[in-house]
Amino acid sequence: MAQNYYQKEIETMPIEEMKKLQSEKLVKQVKHVYENVPYYRNLMNEKGIKPEDVHGIDDLHKLPFLTKTDLRDAYPYGLLAKPLDDCVRIQSTSGTTGRRVVAFYTQHDIDLWEDCCARAITATGATKKDVCQVAYGYGLFTGGPGLNGGSHKVGCLTLPMSSGNTERQIQFMMDLNASLICCTPSYAAYIGETLREQGYKPEDIPLKAGIFGAEPWTEEMRKGIEATLGIKAYDIYGLTETTGPGVAFECSEQTGMHINEDHFYAEIIDPDTGEVLPEGSKGELVFTSLDKEAFPLLRYRTRDICVLSRKKCSCGRTLIKMAKPMGRTDDMLIIRGVNVFPSQIETVLLNEGYQPNYQIIVDRVKNTDTFEVNVEMSPEQFTDKVGEILAMEKTLAEAMKAMLGINPAVHLVAPKSIARSEGKAVRVIDKRKLV
Ligand code: ADP
Ligand code: ZN
Repeated sequence: MAQNYYQKEIETMPIEEMKKLQSEKLVKQVKHVYENVPYYRNLMNEKGIKPEDVHGIDDLHKLPFLTKTDLRDAYPYGLLAKPLDDCVRIQSTSGTTGRRVVAFYTQHDIDLWEDCCARAITATGATKKDVCQVAYGYGLFTGGPGLNGGSHKVGCLTLPMSSGNTERQIQFMMDLNASLICCTPSYAAYIGETLREQGYKPEDIPLKAGIFGAEPWTEEMRKGIEATLGIKAYDIYGLTETTGPGVAFECSEQTGMHINEDHFYAEIIDPDTGEVLPEGSKGELVFTSLDKEAFPLLRYRTRDICVLSRKKCSCGRTLIKMAKPMGRTDDMLIIRGVNVFPSQIETVLLNEGYQPNYQIIVDRVKNTDTFEVNVEMSPEQFTDKVGEILAMEKTLAEAMKAMLGINPAVHLVAPKSIARSEGKAVRVIDKRKLV
């Protein structure tokens, strides 16, 4: 496949040259932050580090980390590095795991963010001839605004649908020939399911590709979405603290996401010790924003667990790749002492022929954790024979036990009885936190 790049020189830059560029940017950035962000200056002073001690990327490990707690403590302006007068936008996290944090952008920051999204859109093969339907939420959430800006940069005809109103999504998609769709993978699956119910076959749908991210999704889910919509489904990663979607994006090889490392330098650390781990190790992803002006986080701990790879990619990009995040250190459930990630449950469901419509309910009764998984049957799987349901539940519970090492109580529920998500899906209800 002929490769399309949005910023070829950067995307295919030789590694040594990239390192030089990153080092130059880092030296400037550390100085900028030290001079303008008293919160971080204090952290550096506590560690006994001065901007002069940082000569390039190899010195990055000397700098202190920032965590989500720092962001919450410094809320709202404590990490701002530019006068508010120079800022043009605020965005906020979805608050999946607690109080929202806010991020600030100058026009320069918006531009580089939109460039990153434009790289992601171009990597799917899309050009100015495409019609791009943006079905991520617009507003404080970064999904809609980020992809919208990227789509404009590429020159696509942009449909700023926002999320929700699925009937209207489908009508516009069909009437206006949308060829690319951007939304959360759970919403893509829902749109696909609705199209199928309305009698559309994959070949009736004008879409060629989709860019899905903002939440974890599995390879099995990718296959499902690709089959129902008749498209190629690309992953995209990002977080509000760095900018939003587009920090990393997938190319035609679909074996991980290229990180836009001219803007965001990635490290993998041991989440317990903070030690930087060598390429290929699994650990917590840490980002340093190399050239953002207003909200330039240095060594920000994402709590996402993943692996980095410099393996040569067939697309020609030299940008380092990150594997699909395998969950977040904070969405890992510890149930009866065992680590459980929702993505493991999703993998079992898809392997066993179920749709990824499920909910995990954890509670604590008499000092013991209870672990239930409600799983929706598809209309084809649906039966009202109790014996059949019990047998299906048993098979599924055994498959989960094999994957997780602990036994869930599996309940099969009627088709459509678990609420669908138009944004990020809510998979876990942990009632233990309420006490
Ligand atoms: P919140 O932390 O409130 O969810 P954001 O909306 O900024 O805030 O979401 C960022 C997080 O979303 C990331 O840290 C990551 O956990 C998750 N995420 C984003 N893109 C992906 C993706 N492609 N795969 C898995 N997880 C993702
Ligand atoms: Zn590639």
